[in-house]
Amino acid sequence: METTFIMIKPDGVQRGLIGDIISRFEKKGFYLKAMKLITVERSFAEKHYADLSSKPFFGGLVEYIVSGPVVAMVWEGKGVVATGRLMIGATKPSESVPGSIRGDYAVEVGRNVIHGSDSVGSAQKEIALWFPEGLSEWRSEMHPWIYEA
Ligand code: GDP
Ligand code: MG
Repeated sequence: METTFIMIKPDGVQRGLIGDIISRFEKKGFYLKAMKLITVERSFAEKHYADLSSKPFFGGLVEYIVSGPVVAMVWEGKGVVATGRLMIGATKPSESVPGSIRGDYAVEVGRNVIHGSDSVGSAQKEIALWFPEGLSEWRSEMHPWIYEA
């Protein structure tokens, strides 16, 4: 079992997409291990996106992330990092396939609704940054109905 960091960005919160996005991950068979609605400081957003600090869109990206509350979550499941990225869709909504979250709900790369960790390593870093308080230890009673032994 693996964990990933998923964040519904301020546009996703404003547009009322929280319930739908959580439903997709729940129905897939992943487990919610932590969740909070927060508005982050500029310095925190810069830390989260530190790898992109040299990009020309970095300033706009930080503005976007601090523009309102986000829903930060940790999801657990087999292959959840890679599968989560597929469920989210390509970075550019013009290239995200219909059926993916960005494919269904986004038009602009700078308003692409959701973030998901891109590797197991970055998931670990992002979870430590966003949830220093730790995660809930629980497993669904449905586990044997979703996963083989
Ligand atoms: P992700 O992992 O699919 O979210 O994509 P990246 O890690 O490459 O970029 C992080 C976020 O920066 C994206 O989700 C977009 O919101 C934003 N972003 C990436 N590329 C561009 C771009 O070319 N222009 C703008 N305005 N935003 C971008
Ligand atoms: Mg990324």
